[in-house]
Amino acid sequence: MLEVFDRLKTLQDVLAEKYELQAKIEEAPKKLSTQEELLARLKKEYIEKNAIYEEVRKKVARLKTELADVNAAIEKSEKGMDSITTHREYEALDKEINDARELEQTIRNDLKKEEKSLAELNDNLKTEEVLIQRQEEELSDGKKSLQDEIDQYNAKMDDLKKQEEELVPGIDPEIIFKFQRIIRSKHSKGIVAVKGNVCDGCHMILPAQFANDVHVGDKIVFCPYCSRILYYQEVDGADEEYFQMDDTGSLADLGDEFDDEYDEDSEDYDDSDSIKELDY
Ligand SMILES: [Zn+2]
Repeated sequence: MLEVFDRLKTLQDVLAEKYELQAKIEEAPKKLSTQEELLARLKKEYIEKNAIYEEVRKKVARLKTELADVNAAIEKSEKGMDSITTHREYEALDKEINDARELEQTIRNDLKKEEKSLAELNDNLKTEEVLIQRQEEELSDGKKSLQDEIDQYNAKMDDLKKQEEELVPGIDPEIIFKFQRIIRSKHSKGIVAVKGNVCDGCHMILPAQFANDVHVGDKIVFCPYCSRILYYQEVDGADEEYFQMDDTGSLADLGDEFDDEYDEDSEDYDDSDSIKELDY
């Protein structure tokens, strides 16, 4: 039985490391999520800006066509000047030419404005392209090093699984299952000592008969309060006293020993209120 307890203690370390590693493997890809989000945002912005650029580009093309048309019209009207015969005709044509020139100027102004805007948008897009490319490279590097990291974790995991397989044979699988569950759920020990008749895992006082079973140590016993496997460990002082104490026995008998225990292990201690009441 002592050999089993020793194996369980080793297994507990292996399992704790394994679960920690599992959590790391699950968490690892999240490291890239910020970079992935940034890249997605840059690409979305790029598409939006590119759509605006396309609109402006079409507008510029349209204005250029309009400008060519109006220039052609002006040229045609100017030629028409040669063949007019009346003053009325002259005035009508002159007005037409002046209106067309006014229109030409408006189009030129618009075109200038839109071309400036198009150039700015183009610069902007080029900058965005560089940013996106840089971000893609960073992400690709990130993925590579993440894969290295995960490969290392997996190699370590294989090693731990091998150790686990060497430790479990001969131990009831149901006990192993409960043992694994307690280590996984509490992120702490699955096998703890009983000192006196106090569980070192949850610091609860065990029923005397129960503590006695642990002391005898011929079977695997789980703490009724915290479900951890219990093994007996001598404490300085008169151990027998503790075991002879029944459920209704005076807790004062525990004396200073008990207080010391409590202080030493206060970190994973979760029943402080109930114990403080006992602190005479
Ligand atoms: Zn316990």
